Amino acid sequence: MTKTHPPSIIAIDGPAASGKSTLGLKLAQALGYLFFDTGVMYRAITWLALDRDIDVRDEAQITALAEGTPIDVAPASRSDGRVCDVLVGGKDITWETRLPIVDANVSVVSAYPGVRAALSKQQRRIGQRGRVVMVGRDIGTVVLPEADLKIYLDASAEERARRRYNELIARGANVKYEDILAKVIERDRIDSTRDVAPLKAAPDAIIIDSDKMSIDEVFEKVLALCK
Ligand code: C5P
Repeated sequence: MTKTHPPSIIAIDGPAASGKSTLGLKLAQALGYLFFDTGVMYRAITWLALDRDIDVRDEAQITALAEGTPIDVAPASRSDGRVCDVLVGGKDITWETRLPIVDANVSVVSAYPGVRAALSKQQRRIGQRGRVVMVGRDIGTVVLPEADLKIYLDASAEERARRRYNELIARGANVKYEDILAKVIERDRIDSTRDVAPLKAAPDAIIIDSDKMSIDEVFEKVLALCK
C-alpha cells in the first residue's frame, strides 16, 4: 500500500504513561493536525458507569452504555492542563475521566469486545478524514492499520510510574510511588493480555524507547520522521 508523505494519518500507541499524549499533542500542534487521544473514550464510558452505579463487571450493561453514548472529544477550551475536552451529552467530564477510580477500572471496561467495537467505529470515522494524530493502544494494529506513520512509544514501568507520580504530586495529590508502579504494571498486564486488540506494536511501527530521552528529544525524532 502506498503511504502518504508527509504522513496524514499518524498512529501513536504504547503502554500507560509512556508520554503518548504529550508527544501526540505537540506533534499535532506542529503539523496543524487534529489531536485525538482515544483513551479518553474508554475513560468516559468507565466514569459514566461508575457515576451511574453500574458494576464494571456487568459486560452487557457496559456494552449497552458504550453503544448508546456519543462521546465528543474537542480541542481544549481551557488552559487548565487538559489536552482536550471530553463531553458527554454536552457535559464537560474532562477531569472526571482522569480520576484514580477511572484508572483502576478502565482496563476492565476496555477489554469488552462490544465496547471496543462501538468505540473503534467512532475512532475510525474520525481518523479516516486524515491530518490526524491518533493516540491509543491499538491504533496502528486495529483502528487504522493503514496509518501512514506508526510510532510505538515505550518506556520501562518504573520510568512511567515515576513520571505519573511527579505529575500527580505537582497537582497536589497525596500518592505513593510504589502504589502507582503497581497500578501501572496491572494496567499493562490487562491491556496486553486481553483477547481483542491487545496492546502491541504493529509490525511496521517504529519503536521508540523513551527511558533515557526527554519528551523534546522524542518529539524532535518523530517530527523528523514526518518531514
Ligand atoms: O491512554 P490512557 O491511559 O488514557 O488509556 C486508558 C485505558 O483505555 C488504557 O489503559 C486501555 O485499557 C484503554 N485503551 C484501549 N485502547 C485505546 C486507548 C485506550 O484499550 N486505543
